Amino acid sequence: MTDLSFAQRLADTLGTDAVSTSADEIEPWLSDWRGMYKGKAQAVVRPSTTDEVAACLALCSDARVPVVPRGGNTGLCGAATPDASPNNVILSLDRMHAIRSIDTTGNTMVAEAGCILGNLRRAAEEQHRLLPLSLAAEDSCQLGGNLSTNAGGVNVVRYGMTRELALGLEAVLPNGEIFHGLRTLRKDNTGYDLKQLMIGAEGTLGIITAAALRLYPRNDVRVVVLAAVNSAQQALELFELLFERGGPRMQAFEFFTAECLDLVLAHVEGMRAPFAERHPAYVLIELADTVDETALRALVETVIGEALERELCTDAAVSESIAQVNSMWRLREEISEAQRADGPHVKHDVSLPIEAIPAFLETAGERVEKHHAGVRLIVFGHFGDGNLHYNLSRPSGAPRDFFAQHGEGLTAEVLDEVARYGGSISAEHGIGQLKRDYFSRYKDPLEIRLMREIRKVFDPHGIMNPGKIF
Ligand SMILES: Cc1cc2nc3c(=O)[nH]c(=O)nc-3n(C[C@H](O)[C@H](O)[C@H](O)COP(=O)(O)OP(=O)(O)OC[C@H]3O[C@@H](n4cnc5c(N)ncnc54)[C@H](O)[C@@H]3O)c2cc1C
Repeated sequence: MTDLSFAQRLADTLGTDAVSTSADEIEPWLSDWRGMYKGKAQAVVRPSTTDEVAACLALCSDARVPVVPRGGNTGLCGAATPDASPNNVILSLDRMHAIRSIDTTGNTMVAEAGCILGNLRRAAEEQHRLLPLSLAAEDSCQLGGNLSTNAGGVNVVRYGMTRELALGLEAVLPNGEIFHGLRTLRKDNTGYDLKQLMIGAEGTLGIITAAALRLYPRNDVRVVVLAAVNSAQQALELFELLFERGGPRMQAFEFFTAECLDLVLAHVEGMRAPFAERHPAYVLIELADTVDETALRALVETVIGEALERELCTDAAVSESIAQVNSMWRLREEISEAQRADGPHVKHDVSLPIEAIPAFLETAGERVEKHHAGVRLIVFGHFGDGNLHYNLSRPSGAPRDFFAQHGEGLTAEVLDEVARYGGSISAEHGIGQLKRDYFSRYKDPLEIRLMREIRKVFDPHGIMNPGKIF
């Protein structure tokens, strides 16, 4: 039952305009981006300051009211969606979107957790700096969500995941205490690194209110290569060559199969096939530098020439302009949307030791086909990080609800195979509600026990994002 008096106390503390309680206002906050989950809540709270977040959590903690942190809601595991309890309070930081500072000497940015990632990237760019975190959802997702999922994206091969970009955090603990860890120090070996526990915690340890992030020099010179490959083994050898010759200039090494490109060409307007022939798979490589386009281009051409000679790829196109850079990237970035347009599907965001990818693709494909013939494999991802989006689409002609019956069995086949190669069942999307059962099946029991104990230390009353991760 809705606890009116509690919602009233929230409104008395934070102001009525920061607290929504009517069913109409709450409705848009109850489901996830993919429409897989829907929950309930008594209120949506949108504080404007860290002190207001602290006041809100103190009230929730005293009353043992569950709190569900919500960023841009682009997460793919249902981690920002409330469960079925009508008591939930959804807490959004969308009003906390200030950039507190950009320091071009120390090369840091301090920003509030409600900032949209794309805005932060543009603000850094204006100061001739690069915030390297980049993903297709960057104009919707928020910094708080990125930190809480330890988001990856397309530049991990050069700059690492969100974890590697965070120098400091400000957060509010579930009891309302403020964690003042907003340091910009590059070196700080003073005991346990507590901020790293909160990064990737999917809102289970508190609310992140601001972060200090590393900035890098802006890479104005960019060259993209789209290479056609016959196999994942070729892609792997190409990666080795690019790593060796491109060094730190290589900032993306993405992979997608012919089936992915088919979907993009079928469902996304204005897309053109990059080569006259259809090839089994493609690799998109970006190299970038601060200056000297001629030198970068010469390097790319030499390396690709060598790759063609050594038969590490069968064809290659090199971008000539920023417009071409963008259109090549669209072939890769539109895959998720194209698969969505194709109909219901099952996603697996897995990672593997990179050298195991070719063998995994072969044996996982065999298991999927054996489990149910005709299931279409839509495989793409951040190959250079060992991260594959190993997605399945229903067989041609199968009913739209095909995965209601077969989804679980197919997922078990894929994840068992991931585990056999020493991989991870979640590379960058997290656990949320979607992978909770698989998490308990595949994660080491000792690690789960330590995580449960840590969660209890931060949140003894268990109010933060119940039902997420475990
Ligand atoms: C088209 C598309 C492409 C994507 N590509 C990538 C990709 O390449 N790489 C990648 O890693 N992800 C990708 N994602 C997934 C998603 O964008 C990321 O997980 C992103 O980091 C989520 O941010 P968000 O603000 O939308 O968070 P939400 O979905 O709102 O929340 C995610 C989690 O963070 C918690 N949370 C949110 N804000 C806070 C806070 N202030 N304090 C504490 N907890 C908080 C929530 O409770 C939840 O557990 C993609 C998604 C889409 C739709």
